[in-house]
Amino acid sequence: MTAPLKSSVTNLAGAESIAPNDTASGSNFIRKMVEEDLQTDRFGGRVHTRFPPEPNGYLHVGHAKAICLDFGLAKEYGGLCNLRYDDTNPVKEEAEFVEAMKEDIRWLGFDWGDREYYASDYFDQLYDWAVQLIKAGKAYVDSLSAEEIREYRGTLTAPGRESPHRNRPVEENLDLFERMRAGEFEEGTHVLRAKIDMASGNLNLRDPVMYRILHASHHRTGDRWHIYPLYDFAHGQSDSIEKITHSLCTLEYEDHRPLYDWFLAELGIYHPQQIEFAPLNLSYTVLSKRKLIRLVEEGHVAGWDDPRMPTLSGLRRRGYTPEAITNFCDRIGVAKNESVLDIALLEHTLREDLNKRAPRVMAVLRPLKVVIDNYPTDQVEDFEIINNPEDPAMGQRTVPFSRELYIERDDFLEDPPKKYFRLAPGREVRLKSAYYVTCVNVIKDEETGEVVEVHCTYDPESRGGGTADGRKVRGTLHWVSANHAVDAEIRLYDHLFLNEDPNDVEEGADFMANLNPNSLEILSSVKVEPNLAGATPGSRYQFLRQGYFAVDPDSAVARLVFNRAVSLRDTWAKIRKTQQK
Ligand code: ATP
Ligand code: MG
Repeated sequence: MTAPLKSSVTNLAGAESIAPNDTASGSNFIRKMVEEDLQTDRFGGRVHTRFPPEPNGYLHVGHAKAICLDFGLAKEYGGLCNLRYDDTNPVKEEAEFVEAMKEDIRWLGFDWGDREYYASDYFDQLYDWAVQLIKAGKAYVDSLSAEEIREYRGTLTAPGRESPHRNRPVEENLDLFERMRAGEFEEGTHVLRAKIDMASGNLNLRDPVMYRILHASHHRTGDRWHIYPLYDFAHGQSDSIEKITHSLCTLEYEDHRPLYDWFLAELGIYHPQQIEFAPLNLSYTVLSKRKLIRLVEEGHVAGWDDPRMPTLSGLRRRGYTPEAITNFCDRIGVAKNESVLDIALLEHTLREDLNKRAPRVMAVLRPLKVVIDNYPTDQVEDFEIINNPEDPAMGQRTVPFSRELYIERDDFLEDPPKKYFRLAPGREVRLKSAYYVTCVNVIKDEETGEVVEVHCTYDPESRGGGTADGRKVRGTLHWVSANHAVDAEIRLYDHLFLNEDPNDVEEGADFMANLNPNSLEILSSVKVEPNLAGATPGSRYQFLRQGYFAVDPDSAVARLVFNRAVSLRDTWAKIRKTQQK
């Protein structure tokens, strides 16, 4: 179930403008409820939460918000948080997803100890409880078709109608339900329903279906069952079995809470408190496993961990740190009303984190050859360059300099406009931490007229990037020595969707219509400084003036591959400035 995105994007003006009492680590409405329960000793002083994913896909950054809340709250109050797979639908669930989810939760830094549970572990108990409700006259086997059930249910404005099978005698219900379990019937011929109120203003209470027949193999119970409980009949009881105190879930379950409470009350069993919070929605992003699975299955991305995906595995591959994601979740806080958050805030959080810990290196994405005419042909100088000005403890490294170098193609213009401070004929610039160079000549491709080589002279007095006369050069360019450079491929990413709200489409179309056809650009002749040779997958760097990059698992010694995690341009900072004005 996915609530519709609101059309406007909330530009919370940075952490500063989020009221401190709304953040996940400050106080918030959930914490207030928990503290009240602690004061009144409602659950004997315990706080016990659970994170309940359905193993039908990979976890995404929206789930990270839930994970941070569930595990965070438990940790804060000295309680526990279970990992519980909500595996009641055998058709869509797979063991692959179970394993991937565990890896992602651990990567975020959370631990469920030995409390790894499965709703399917409770199938026997749930069956017994269903029988208990049948015996109490609170549940019945209905033999209407799915379509008829929908029709009979009524609408928000019209009450429902009672099924002709609603008053089946208990014995008949017990017999039919037992035979459903034994696999005697075709799918769709019977269901078990709770007998509540077909006129209820809450559609969820109009005799909701508890069990349906499915002749499907389950990833854990195999072919043992021919009937499977629905979410509503499994979730609250699973919480109850595990003695959960606070069952946090997203807003779409608010209308299910009366049903959650009804089952627990009718069964007379331990009763946790369900609390709903607003799901995370991000601009330019879909956060729904059902939609993400389509991107994967229809081949629009390379897999669940494609760096364009909002999945935790995709973000990890792209270069996100777990700290950036948990800080983000903390910063966005938890509210009761739904909004759409600007994805620039997530990117900002990553930049902030990597700024502190990523070493700076030089990489030339679109190389242009530079020859320094007055530099000795066979000379190589080693320059010591600081790894991270934010953190002196990260030390420095040696970068070789020689007569032939590469600079970025767009750092040279033959005919520069005003305010272009980079290299141009007759113009002097600084090569980062090395020398001042002045362009004296260019060589062009005879056919295309394209500049293929720039000739410069250097000032030996400017060694290290400054001169005694203190003359100013306005541009500082990054560079790599041509003979020492290592070849690399770089993958640049853009949003997967063109529209801020991917679901905003013309009638008859779906979110796929908003796919960005240019979300991936591959640069295949990148030159990086030799210190990057052998960089291992997962390591992250700032490429000077270009952004933050992570080594992709596709990378090999012979050919490095980097993903751009995020560019240096901070659109979030801009948004914040405009708002403060
Ligand atoms: P999806 O539509 O992506 O499959 P879901 O809610 O069906 O989402 P579950 O695996 O059932 O996915 O979700 C596990 C937990 O994560 C639930 O408690 C759910 O409320 C929470 N959750 C899911 N999406 C978000 C989100 N966008 N923001 C915050 N919490 C979320
Ligand atoms: Mg779900």
